[in-house]
Amino acid sequence: MGIIEIFNWFRELFWSKGISQEQINVPQKNNAKEKLVLNIKKDYSSPNFSVRKTQIDSIVVHHTAGSHPGCTIWLSDKESGVSAHYVITQEGAVYQLVEDHGRAWHAGRGAFDVNKDGKISQIERMWNDRSIGIELEAVLPYSYSDEQLKSLDGLTSHLMLKHHINVNMIFGHKEISPGRKFDPANFEMDDFREHIKGIMSA
Ligand SMILES: [Zn+2]
Repeated sequence: MGIIEIFNWFRELFWSKGISQEQINVPQKNNAKEKLVLNIKKDYSSPNFSVRKTQIDSIVVHHTAGSHPGCTIWLSDKESGVSAHYVITQEGAVYQLVEDHGRAWHAGRGAFDVNKDGKISQIERMWNDRSIGIELEAVLPYSYSDEQLKSLDGLTSHLMLKHHINVNMIFGHKEISPGRKFDPANFEMDDFREHIKGIMSA
């Protein structure tokens, strides 16, 4: 086998698979011995985003109300006109559909604004401008697997560190669109924020 063949063989073996995902190390509570490595898969990409002109300062959590891969394909389909930055499947796989710096169309028009100090003011604004949208794959009766929640922990803490997002700036869609949205269902946002606070302060 010549050098070119060897190169091609390696490329075949690793490149084609490796290019579709990004590996990140995420914070672990109490410097846990097991390091959590999160694979962010890039098998899907969505055209449903615009240019983000505002700084990222928040995360909005959703549920898909449909199962993967159907929901992920829908969020990647121009026809749907909706998207999210990330989808986390029941198996715990993380797919990135829109780059963080893109303005994905996941939140629509929110019902209130939240200042940096955590105070809520009743100003309608576009949450898509400044938040990262994470969709949890869930169908009726809406439950989440351990693997999925572990990936959510990892992705959330990674994004918080990367974009300097405060734990008080993590919201459920239902919190920013009360009465209009109920996702993520069966998911206590206060508990989640407390839990993330614990991970981040480890
Ligand atoms: Zn939603």
